[in-house]
Amino acid sequence: MNFVTHLECANCGQRYEAGKVHNLCTVCNRPLWVKYDLDGLKQNFKRSDLTGRPFTVMQRYRELLPITNPDNIVSLSESITPILQCDRLAAEFGVETLLIKDESRLPTGSFKARGMMMAISMANEFGIKKVACPTAGNAGGAMAAYAARAGMEAYVFMPEDTPMINKKECFTAGAKTFLVNGLINDCGRIVGEGKKIKGWFDLSTLKEPYRIEGKKTMGLELAEQFEWELPDVILYPTGGGTGLIGMWKAFNELEAMGWLDSSKKPKMISCQSEGCAPISTAFEKGERFATLFEGASTVASGIRVPVAVGDFMILDAVRESGGVAIATPEKDIPKWMQLATSKEGIALCPETAVCLGALEVLLGKGTIKPTDKILIFNTGAAQKYPEAVQENLPRIDITKPIDWDKI
Ligand SMILES: *Cc1c(COP(=O)(O)O)cnc(C)c1O
Ligand SMILES: [Zn+2]
Repeated sequence: MNFVTHLECANCGQRYEAGKVHNLCTVCNRPLWVKYDLDGLKQNFKRSDLTGRPFTVMQRYRELLPITNPDNIVSLSESITPILQCDRLAAEFGVETLLIKDESRLPTGSFKARGMMMAISMANEFGIKKVACPTAGNAGGAMAAYAARAGMEAYVFMPEDTPMINKKECFTAGAKTFLVNGLINDCGRIVGEGKKIKGWFDLSTLKEPYRIEGKKTMGLELAEQFEWELPDVILYPTGGGTGLIGMWKAFNELEAMGWLDSSKKPKMISCQSEGCAPISTAFEKGERFATLFEGASTVASGIRVPVAVGDFMILDAVRESGGVAIATPEKDIPKWMQLATSKEGIALCPETAVCLGALEVLLGKGTIKPTDKILIFNTGAAQKYPEAVQENLPRIDITKPIDWDKI
């Protein structure tokens, strides 16, 4: 039993039946929303129903998720992620309240687990046995892990310069993994062509409707953790955009159900690196659709997405929220990673590092105020990116006396 009524194209509004396999809208090739009976939810699902439920994503918020039969859930036990108060880091920026929601604790070390747990669970419900996706890194790792858990065959296509750990995690999880001499959009084209020939189901970001529903749980649990009173500002590193779009969908659904105590919703800040900034470029030009970002290059591989099929959904959410889309210098990424980790012990991924760059700029412009309640998502574990840190540590030769002046 669930509360899904139908699916609906986010661009042209075309309706699609629930309980059937869908990819993009067949009319306009844009992503689909999963729609719920929000009145029914309002009547039948109360905040107090959460009391006593397990602190795992799938169980806790099941009425707001699309699974029909719980036996079909494919899970690695996705726990509610903690929100850490960061007073030392706040002091560096001169702000009162800086919070980090640490998604690095999820299975496979990134928030991609949320999307893939849902997409693979739904694929399982539909009896799908072979899945494929293009990846900038972590999506492939998460898909490979959940496909392994489900006993499905997985095919991953990644740029040849994807971080080493992502290659190894896909390989180890038994996914058929291919290195492509192009970017994620080139990998996406291969999956698109191969799905007819090889019979894969395409799990590309936003090309199937359920990864958003998985990412939506970030917004649901955030709202619960904040006791139904959301923070003022959310900074989020944006690649394909499912995270930001999913969270905004969560806030809108909770609002419609009357679960939020205040109608004030956070300003959503979409953060990118200047090395790959299609969304911030479109935002600045006042456009709803982004153009391909030429020569995309950033060490923050998860946001190396030069073109996003859900660009307008990201830009709509950002604008509706009163937020902005911004890009900050690529060269500062290692500096921000080190600042956050050395001040707070939180292993910040390079994607989230761009959010600290954005915070600095937006405080300077007055878009974010020092008194605002500011929340940043740490979308992945820094440990997955050995390439992003140049440590060059001094060596000690145990065959010689130790030179204590150098220590
Ligand atoms: C994929 C990814 C992102 C971007 O997420 P989207 O929801 O696709 O915009 C950010 N950070 C990390 C670590 C990622 O793996
Ligand atoms: Zn459409």
